[in-house]
Amino acid sequence: MKMEQDKYFEILKTISQPQRYLSPERGFVLKEKPRLKVLLIFPDIYEIGMANYGFHLLYFLGNSIEDVQIERGFLPWFDLGKKMRENSIPLLSIETQTPANQFPLIAFTLPTPMHFTNLIYALDLSNIPFKWKERNERDPIIIAGGMSLSNPAPLLEILDVIAIGDGEIILPKILNVFLEKEKKFERLEELSKIEGLIVPPLRKEKTKRVVLYGLKDQFLFKPIVPSFPSVHHRFTIEIMRGCPWGCRFCQAGFWYRPYREADLEMTYNFLVENAPSSGFTEVGLLSLSSSDISSIFPFCKNLIEFLKKYNISISMPSLRVSSLSLPLIEILQMVRKSSLTFAPETSENLRKKINKPIKDEEIINVLIKAKDMGWKNVKFYFMLGLPFEEEEDLKSILNLIKEVKKIGFPSISLNISNFVPKPWTPFQNYKMPLLEDFYEKQKFLKKNLKIKAKFTNPKISYIEERLSRGGKVLGNVLIELYKRGNFFDCWDEYLKYDEYISALPVIKEGENPWEEVIDFDIKK
Ligand code: SF4
Repeated sequence: MKMEQDKYFEILKTISQPQRYLSPERGFVLKEKPRLKVLLIFPDIYEIGMANYGFHLLYFLGNSIEDVQIERGFLPWFDLGKKMRENSIPLLSIETQTPANQFPLIAFTLPTPMHFTNLIYALDLSNIPFKWKERNERDPIIIAGGMSLSNPAPLLEILDVIAIGDGEIILPKILNVFLEKEKKFERLEELSKIEGLIVPPLRKEKTKRVVLYGLKDQFLFKPIVPSFPSVHHRFTIEIMRGCPWGCRFCQAGFWYRPYREADLEMTYNFLVENAPSSGFTEVGLLSLSSSDISSIFPFCKNLIEFLKKYNISISMPSLRVSSLSLPLIEILQMVRKSSLTFAPETSENLRKKINKPIKDEEIINVLIKAKDMGWKNVKFYFMLGLPFEEEEDLKSILNLIKEVKKIGFPSISLNISNFVPKPWTPFQNYKMPLLEDFYEKQKFLKKNLKIKAKFTNPKISYIEERLSRGGKVLGNVLIELYKRGNFFDCWDEYLKYDEYISALPVIKEGENPWEEVIDFDIKK
């Protein structure tokens, strides 16, 4: 192992961005002689993984247990990956450069199905067989969780364990099994008795999704300060889980149900104590719809006033366009760094059908007031190809943008994605438009918008659909795709669209493989 590490450090001198692979960063955890060491892998590069809140949460949650050391792993970029293979160096943990296959447990956070082949890449680099049937007693137990596993079927032949639900409840139980049992088979058997875990080698019945009902009991922690700026370089804290709305296409809105709010007094006190010394200059308040949180306004106002003394700003994801958001928009203006972001999605008429009944008039009124408050940049998210969409809806989007332009913002930007029917949503069995129809819709908007707009490639949306709705057969397909050199698929420039589309089976109408595995009594 020492030789491997020495060689690894030598190689790091010859590649780009070596700091991606080195610890220690400020706030990382290292324990003396822990009884159990676990590797937590984010299947992408360091700066993407370190921007993921769930990844940090699991790291600190696990490390809060005595005797347990959680270490992190990320994927090497192409240059390092190639040299590691040439020199037979396996994937190593960040904290202690321990080879991945020496951990008894490897846990993956899988935010999107586009990370599936990266998981296989991580196993390959670690010299671990891809399928659970091919692994033996000495191989680690491979577990994964995350929203992409709201349909676990594609990975049923690959993973030993799949976690369905909130990590705060599931992770301590998993670690306890590893502390109490020695043998791999005993561990799997014990894990199969835990609610929220699917253990494919021993699967008997459906698994219930496990929910942390009181977000008031949430686990608060001070994140590691990345040594290399992550894509969102900020002290992220969760203030809401789930969403009180039920937009019919939105997977996060349904999958994270029920709607739960953090205890804002506790959150405020925690930030007052920890943000000034955190090493971050921005606090990110994570939620799906911030303006719906009761007492969000006084919380933000007090927080902004406090953090101002330390030159720390706060940020929030997109706001619901409503007059109720105005007080929040006003105080955010005091520390604004970027654009004001809204997601009208589509025309006013279609918004009613997708259960997002916001009027164009309300959007315009809110924006006029935001402009008066001093906001200069606005950003909108729209979605093409939603069920029931007609040409009139596209024309209405153009009209809305025309009205927004009249308000006089110096910068307006648009992000236009495509509808993908996602598991557990009321639209899960609605069809996507044909590829050529998506192109037509995009062409129409591009021609008439005359404004900066970023469109999602419809081929990516098709791949996303087949990965997120596919069945068990996808396991072999993913392995084959990986063997043909497909990984880092989240990176548009490396995604071989045509190879993917021809390899992934077409989704059959009405097939919902996730409903055969997960028991999730969701009200749609
Ligand atoms: S689209 Fe936004 S408001 Fe609607 S359910 Fe999803 S997160 Fe909530």
